[in-house]
Amino acid sequence: MVEMETLVSLCKRRGFIFQSSEIYGGINGFWDFGPAGVELKRRIKDSWWRQMVQQRDDVVGVDTSIIAHPRTWVASGHVASFSDPMVDCKECKKRFRADDMPVSKKHGEGRCPECGGELTEARSFNLMFETHVGATADSGSIAYLRPETCQSIFTQFKNVQVVSRKKVPFGIAQIGKAFRNEITPRNFIFRSREFEQMEMEFFCHADESEKWFEYWVNERYEWFKSIGIKPECLRLRPHEQDELAHYARGCSDVEYEMPFGWSEMEGIANRANYDLTQHMNESGKDMNYFDDARKEKFIPCVIETSVGVDRTALAVLCDAYREEDVKGEMRVVMGFDRSLAPVQVAVLPLSGKLREPADKLEKEMKKHFYSEYDDAGSIGKRYRRHDEIGTPYCVTYDFESETDHAVTVRNRDTMEQERISIDKVLDYLREKFEK
Ligand code: ATP
Repeated sequence: MVEMETLVSLCKRRGFIFQSSEIYGGINGFWDFGPAGVELKRRIKDSWWRQMVQQRDDVVGVDTSIIAHPRTWVASGHVASFSDPMVDCKECKKRFRADDMPVSKKHGEGRCPECGGELTEARSFNLMFETHVGATADSGSIAYLRPETCQSIFTQFKNVQVVSRKKVPFGIAQIGKAFRNEITPRNFIFRSREFEQMEMEFFCHADESEKWFEYWVNERYEWFKSIGIKPECLRLRPHEQDELAHYARGCSDVEYEMPFGWSEMEGIANRANYDLTQHMNESGKDMNYFDDARKEKFIPCVIETSVGVDRTALAVLCDAYREEDVKGEMRVVMGFDRSLAPVQVAVLPLSGKLREPADKLEKEMKKHFYSEYDDAGSIGKRYRRHDEIGTPYCVTYDFESETDHAVTVRNRDTMEQERISIDKVLDYLREKFEK
């Protein structure tokens, strides 16, 4: 399994992920995605959207604002209880989450794990970022950056149901940023303070909620496999009764075996009709749905699927990393599934003199693939770079290409090279990506 440090360094070197505000010394819990990273995230989001929205008749999408009416977060329970217990060190002033403090024998209980200083009593710390809307910064203008994307799906349930003309059961999906002022952001992009979620709320009748819950658990688990994650590093963890929120009827996490242990990627939960009921009570607006077939009015139950884009990206990065011994030299390869590779095809002229025809070929590739023209450095260095970016195919244009009208296609995984005529190379690659 890849060491986290090795991965972090590759991610920086190859433009996947940088520390946010690096030139100012960084800001803890925030990350910037570089040219390769942004493409990887886009592929992950595209795959999710395709499976969850595009290829279905019973799920529609929305894109709601990050800042919502503050009463949204009163209704959802976040203002009252979206908090973690924290302790502060009286000496070094560091802050820790009380529930994941190791009870260190060395320092004894109540002693800081960093400096051994005395700790304060645990206090609860709300994880929502506050801001102010408008010109005055008084308590009446407080608003919150959303800590999850789903609440606006609930508050817009009626509008979306009416305009989409969907009948229950149906779902509403959204991809967007979420913010949590995590006390101890850690493990690279696994726990950060700004991240992206892909959430879907599926509205159904209570009688069918169990069935739909099972259905979505399975669908979501299969999605992780469909993006190429090794099944042996994936597992489902149904929550114990005492882990469930009081209203929840069931919850299962999809976990991935990260270098730091089995970790939650996604939660799938049967939330009964808690969310719509809460918003109905807080807003006074009716959230009942009239089912023509059943001749019954009810507040729909919800099955929620909630996955982090960044956590998925981290799992994909860990999963793709491999080191190989090639004739005594180490080759590092990011073996991404072809559907996720940031660069699908790279066109490499063997020499700068071949720029023009290689560039022309690459322009053709661009119409069909995420392609890149790369002429910097020796061919060996370029192959190594594309192995680390995870480019499945490198197309090399050499001096012979001028006369035999063919190029060399190098396969990332096998390193095999095939000579393919230029007028067939597009079809050849298209076929590879369709598989
Ligand atoms: P955890 O227990 O790890 O804090 P959670 O159970 O609070 O996570 P949820 O509220 O269920 O997480 O959020 C749904 C998904 O959003 C998570 O499965 C995860 O993929 C993602 N997520 C939540 N918090 C973070 C974070 N701080 N950084 C990155 N992704 C996150």
